[in-house]
Amino acid sequence: MPDIDRTPAPVDSRPHVVIVGAGFGGLACASALGGTNIRVTVIDRNNYHLFTPLLYEVATATLSPADIAEPIRRILSRYPNVDVVLGEVRGVDHGARKVVLADGSFVPYDRLVLATGSVYSYFGHDDWAKIAPGMKTIENARQIRGRLLMCFEQAEMSRDPAQQRALMTAIVVGGGPTGVETAGSIAELTRHTLARDFRRIDPRLSRVLLVEAGPRILASFPEELSGYAERKLARLGVTVMTGKPVEEIRPDGVTIAGEFIPAGTIVWGAGVKASPAGGWLGVETDRAGRIPVAPDLSVPGFEGVHALGDTVALPGDDGAPLPGLAQVAKQQGEHLGAALEANLLRGEAMRPFRYRSRGNTAIIGRNAAVFDFGKRRLKGWLAWVLWAFIHVYLLVGFQKRILVTMQWLWRYATYQRGARLITQETPAPFAKTTASPVAEDSQPFERRRSVG
Ligand SMILES: Cc1cc2nc3c(=O)[nH]c(=O)nc-3n(C[C@H](O)[C@H](O)[C@H](O)COP(=O)(O)OP(=O)(O)OC[C@H]3O[C@@H](n4cnc5c(N)ncnc54)[C@H](O)[C@@H]3O)c2cc1C
Repeated sequence: MPDIDRTPAPVDSRPHVVIVGAGFGGLACASALGGTNIRVTVIDRNNYHLFTPLLYEVATATLSPADIAEPIRRILSRYPNVDVVLGEVRGVDHGARKVVLADGSFVPYDRLVLATGSVYSYFGHDDWAKIAPGMKTIENARQIRGRLLMCFEQAEMSRDPAQQRALMTAIVVGGGPTGVETAGSIAELTRHTLARDFRRIDPRLSRVLLVEAGPRILASFPEELSGYAERKLARLGVTVMTGKPVEEIRPDGVTIAGEFIPAGTIVWGAGVKASPAGGWLGVETDRAGRIPVAPDLSVPGFEGVHALGDTVALPGDDGAPLPGLAQVAKQQGEHLGAALEANLLRGEAMRPFRYRSRGNTAIIGRNAAVFDFGKRRLKGWLAWVLWAFIHVYLLVGFQKRILVTMQWLWRYATYQRGARLITQETPAPFAKTTASPVAEDSQPFERRRSVG
């Protein structure tokens, strides 16, 4: 479909703001422009907004994908001046002021907002992505969930103790909040939820390894909270390995600091890089691929182009780039939307953005979370309750909040997880297994439970 104008009709004389990406930043910007006398078009490759902070709960079978995704059209339906285009953006022709889509069609703009987020970086080993999915998309989360559950099915059918041990080993690479949350949740899944469901293996004997190349996990938190998280994870049964770089990832395991550890499930949470939006403009990006933006979130040298969220590098008060957090992207989106309205409708100058941190948090497991509010810190049960309240509050949609709260309460009371489905084509981690039940006493992972 070459050269087709995809601007939603009708086109009129109002200024046209095009926002690429309906993540936290793009959506906040569109909402801030909602109800104004500005035409807004939001373009996203997905028809839904994804609440990434709870993605690990989909990967570990607590929530279903639909619990953490909301149709973009529904979220923006209350704003008649906002249109939504489903499409993959491939480039920007700034000379012609057009956003170019993958099918060759285009959307013209007066002002452009790039809010395309980030992707996982495999530090030059892109071939690892298939073996060790990152936690970024619903597809990733479903792949991890399928792999985790499939490993236990295969281990149950295997008669090879070494293979069983490998299948019942999960390695999470990267000790940031996503790695910590994922490792803790996998450990709870194996130690509690799956504990009684198999006959020949004991899921409680499975291993969960959290591998971090740096000296401590949760490096962006104060040391005291890192230590607390490490102790809590150990109590959950997670082996935390710090100062251990991952050297190789193969479908059957990971080489960590010279030692090969066979594993059925490998999850990547080690590093991110910006979306390719900088390349669309041809700007010089930083090492993480981020677009350097001016304090008013404009892209220097590209009049009328703005960018925000994970895909930009904007120094905070301490001079370091602001962290890749939903709250940063959201605040930037709200700010830019209001500033664009004032600029386009009232001729006011674009205002500089100032970030206000509302605290940094990570959940470790049942009853345990950490909060860093700068001067104050919180850990333990209270932090966990606060974490739950905030995340439910931030979920888009009243119905979703109720659903997620109910599921959390159910899980809290019973340890059960309702989304234990192997729904997609999940490649077998190890090809050779046997379907024939084996003598129980030949298995190191056998379940020694009395029948009766
Ligand atoms: C597993 C996980 C857990 C996290 N937990 C937290 C947390 O607890 N708290 C917190 O503050 N932050 C958290 N974050 C970080 C947070 O998700 C990001 O900082 C935030 O999403 C950035 O917002 P954004 O708007 O820049 O990008 P995103 O929210 O990533 O949105 C980008 C949007 O652009 C769209 N897009 C990208 N490329 C294209 C294209 N070529 N064409 C069309 N559309 C495109 C995508 O589909 C997406 O909708 C977490 C991140 C992950 C991955």
